[in-house]
Amino acid sequence: MIKKGNLLSEGKAKSLFETEKHEELMMVYRDDTSAFDGKKKEALKGKGEINNIFNAHIMDYLANNGVETHHLKTVSENESLVQRLDMLPVECVVRNIATGSICRRLGVEQGLNFEEPLFEFFLKDDDLGDPLINDNHIIAFKWGTEKEIETMKEKTLAINKLLCEKFSKAGLILVDYKVEFGRRGDEIILGDEFTPDGCRIWDQETGESLDKDRFRKDLGNVVESYQIVAHKLGISI
Ligand code: 5GP
Repeated sequence: MIKKGNLLSEGKAKSLFETEKHEELMMVYRDDTSAFDGKKKEALKGKGEINNIFNAHIMDYLANNGVETHHLKTVSENESLVQRLDMLPVECVVRNIATGSICRRLGVEQGLNFEEPLFEFFLKDDDLGDPLINDNHIIAFKWGTEKEIETMKEKTLAINKLLCEKFSKAGLILVDYKVEFGRRGDEIILGDEFTPDGCRIWDQETGESLDKDRFRKDLGNVVESYQIVAHKLGISI
């Protein structure tokens, strides 16, 4: 039994606690679900548990395919042990199909299939609505170095390749997603989570959304849709 220590941070869907080991933290997945920078909130029963298991499966898959992550192991239904990272204050987004904020921002039509995955950086700042930023902002404000920017791009695109293949085999389309990285010494390591809360997944046959857009757009069956995705990916919940 691993004991939780002080609460380090509380996000909108997860809490992070210290443990007896300085370099290891406990990530607790809550049922809380939020959208529109926290303006819409609801607790969805069972979501924390599904996301914990889902994330562990994806992180293990990435680690087995050469992408090092902070994930160590699941320790309960809704808790996982992770390595302590010094997180960079940026979100890395990759889009395979145009939808969501890019369509609002640029006035482009939904549904364009990009020939090459499109990479974007956003600043992690709820009060500012997570604004779009570029490499120059990251350098100028010292949020990261040139080398770290390159590594984040490389790793995010490597993740895209691995996950598009995996999702496609399961009859799913990985439309877009957000990942976050942190420093461990000189290395840049994948942190945070990969769950249907932070990506868009469509059914290949029907085009139906099976991710947090169901919550954002009041489509219902949010947790049930996460379960469908998990089932298709062979994740036992
Ligand atoms: P968009 O920029 O279209 O709102 O989001 C692009 C992708 O990144 C979507 O899959 C979305 O779920 C994810 N994403 C962007 N920002 C956040 C965020 O602050 N939290 C989470 N959980 N996902 C995000």
